[in-house]
Amino acid sequence: MNSSSAVLILDKVSKSYGNGLAVNEVSLNIRENEFFALLGPSGCGKTTLLRMLAGFETPSAGCIYLDGLDISPLPPNKRPLNLMFQSYALFPNMTVRKNIAYGLEMERLPEAQIRQRVNEVLSTAQLTELADRKPNQLSGGQRQRVALARALVKRPRVLLLDEPLGALDKKLREKMQLELKRLQHESGITFIVVTHDQEEALVMSDRMAVLDGGKVCQCGSPSELYENPNSRFVANFIGVSNLFEGLRGAEQRVMVNGHELKVEPQPGAVRGEAVAVVVRPERLQVLGGQGGECDNQVQGQIVEVAYHGLDTNLHVKTALSDKPLIVRVPSSQFEFAHFSSGMDIRLGWQARHARVLTH
Ligand code: ATP
Repeated sequence: MNSSSAVLILDKVSKSYGNGLAVNEVSLNIRENEFFALLGPSGCGKTTLLRMLAGFETPSAGCIYLDGLDISPLPPNKRPLNLMFQSYALFPNMTVRKNIAYGLEMERLPEAQIRQRVNEVLSTAQLTELADRKPNQLSGGQRQRVALARALVKRPRVLLLDEPLGALDKKLREKMQLELKRLQHESGITFIVVTHDQEEALVMSDRMAVLDGGKVCQCGSPSELYENPNSRFVANFIGVSNLFEGLRGAEQRVMVNGHELKVEPQPGAVRGEAVAVVVRPERLQVLGGQGGECDNQVQGQIVEVAYHGLDTNLHVKTALSDKPLIVRVPSSQFEFAHFSSGMDIRLGWQARHARVLTH
């Protein structure tokens, strides 16, 4: 990647606590005006990484550059970065307008300028009508927007958000994901968001880094990570995967439990090496009696039918793995084919829709 377009560069940043490494040589380039997500399971080091960017923790090794300058020696209040905490920490006795203005008043900006900037942000965050209310007169989503407005009004170079939607229920969360993306886009500020929710990261971010055990496993756009995971961990963590463990056979073949699966040619493939073949649920097809045109076919039995509204997931037991495969079919297909538990079906997929993983 061209590092000149990067606002923030992390160069082999590590953080140890005693004998434990919370963050292990993380290198990332975060671009101008990007919505970047740090994603990973609990304890993978996301928050520690964010706190190092904000200046609340000091790296044990490595450097952090903002616009080309090493910011490691700067205390939090001297960094043009703003961290929005998980708890919104609004002042309960102040109105929405006052909460938002507070940071600018602390900077002693002229009153007229404060008023103008606060009005702008109120409008962007769709809070103008609520400007005179106190936090306890707002809904969870509205309080969240105030917290965001309060961070945005300071026009940080980069806004850091730790699980910004963590306190909201599912429905509101989904609405606010799009809202957050819109606010990022309209403000033109680079956002770095920590989340453990892969769906949220897929929906919101331009690019994301998946972390595990303090290390970056993979970094890329949501579709790159979903379509081309580089490891079993990423394949399992992002979306739903069907994973078949096997050994690489002759050219473009992987042997899985005595079945020969056809895969795409891969440079450097070593015959006999242990690999996993991954196929996403929407890439599996339910085949009719004749078997269709698929490169790979397998017989199975439906063990569960899980209705999700738009889609239905069929859980299908096959000889390829101990775990049933998950096949996603549009629920509208039910008009034509009735699927039920105990039914025998034949599944198929094209070699180009499978990925072979060596890690
Ligand atoms: P979560 O999603 O649960 O918030 P996380 O990915 O944000 O997790 P971190 O909070 O960064 O994870 O923690 C990473 C590792 O570092 C964990 O094993 C944690 O126990 C450890 N850790 C974090 N802070 C400290 C600390 N102050 N002292 C000792 N160990 C710490």
